[in-house]
Formats: sequence, structure tokens, C-alpha cells
Amino acid sequence: MTKRFSDDELLALSLLQHIVFCERQCSLNSNEQLWFDNKLTVSGSQLHRRVHGEAPRREKRGDVVIVRELMLCSHILGVTGKADVVEFHKVPSAGVLIEGCDGFWQPYPVEYKHGKPKVDDCDRVQLCAQAICLEEMLGSEVPEGALFYGRIQKREQVVFNKELRLRTQDSAQKLHELVEGGCNPPAELRDCCNQCAMKDTCMPEVTGSSRRATNYIDRALRDQTE
Ligand code: SF4
Repeated sequence: MTKRFSDDELLALSLLQHIVFCERQCSLNSNEQLWFDNKLTVSGSQLHRRVHGEAPRREKRGDVVIVRELMLCSHILGVTGKADVVEFHKVPSAGVLIEGCDGFWQPYPVEYKHGKPKVDDCDRVQLCAQAICLEEMLGSEVPEGALFYGRIQKREQVVFNKELRLRTQDSAQKLHELVEGGCNPPAELRDCCNQCAMKDTCMPEVTGSSRRATNYIDRALRDQTE
């Protein structure tokens, strides 16, 4: 039988993108509560503010109902978070019912990203987790969604196929193991480090060390004041 996580065990859904990007970044973020903004994360936050801004939480445009900042939860993945936007597209049958709207509606999550499409699966895994949450919450299949990239001003359609769903489940399991374990994986210098907001904190000096990064920072600060 599939394990179901309790409410107390739920982790932030957004951590899934970090664990796919880099386990150490995810660990510093979740286990050490360390996060530093860089140019990329700041413009990402600005894009999210523009998406939500003054826009109504729910609006109907023709055959699409748009819901912003919808709270999501999956006890199977053990995650909770907010969807930027969930569109509900009118369909002839199946789908879900929406109060105040006639007919059936197909949920379609849309996540807004500041940059351009990435080579890794981190954004797709995050979106797929949102789809799994919606399926669990609404009891309706969610076969696809979209990622909107600010740099190219385009949507990339994402099909939630078996492979992506397995990757998402594996990532969620790994996330729970990482948080339960409480240890930071060692740093590993890779190309993606140049895009990482944690680069100045995650230094080669801690590579391979089992010491917690906060201890390292404490020591560094102490050395400066002595
Ligand atoms: S600098 Fe590199 S190894 Fe360190 S957290 Fe970022 S991506 Fe991971």
C-alpha cells in the first residue's frame, strides 16, 4: 500500500525543484534554512508579483476559469504549496464541477518562471507535483499543464507522462529522506553552480565535510571578529 504522509510531515512543494537542481542546495535550504537571493531569484520574485499583483484570485475568461495562488497538498507525495495559476478549461465531459459555472472543467496548472526553459527537469517536476496534488484534491486526472518563461515570454506545454510522474515521486521520496537525515550532501562543483543563489555560502572548503554549513558560517564569522 502507498504510504500516506500526515499533515505534520508535509514539506514545501517548492523544495522539489531544488532537489532536482542540486541536493545540497535543497538541503541548505530545508535543513539549514539558508537562502540568499541572487539576480535570478529576485527577478523570479518580481515576475510572481506581476502575475499575482492586483489580479483577482478567480476570474472567468470565456471557456477558461483562472484561479491564482491556489493552495495545494498531496499526502502521497508529502508536499504542500501554492500554485501560481490553475486554469480550468471547459470540456464536454469528465473534468470537475466549479461552483457558479455550468458544465465540466479540466484543471491545467501553469507555473511562472522568470528565465528560459532549463535543460534539467526541475521545473517540470515541480509542475508535475502540482498536478498530482490537484488529482488527489479534486479526484480528476490532470494530464498536462504549462510553464511560462518570462525571458522568452512563451509557454512550454508539459505532459505528465509516466516517466515524469515517477521522477516526481522519486524526488519527493528523496526530499523526505534528506530532511529526515538532516545532513548536508557535500558540495560538488558543476556548471549549474554559476546559477546558484547559494554559491557564496556553499564553498569548496566544506566539500566532503560532514559539518553543518551553519557551523562553518559561525566559525567564519568568529574568525573575522577575533
Ligand atoms: S553552489 Fe553548486 S553544489 Fe553548492 S548548492 Fe549551489 S549548485 Fe549545489
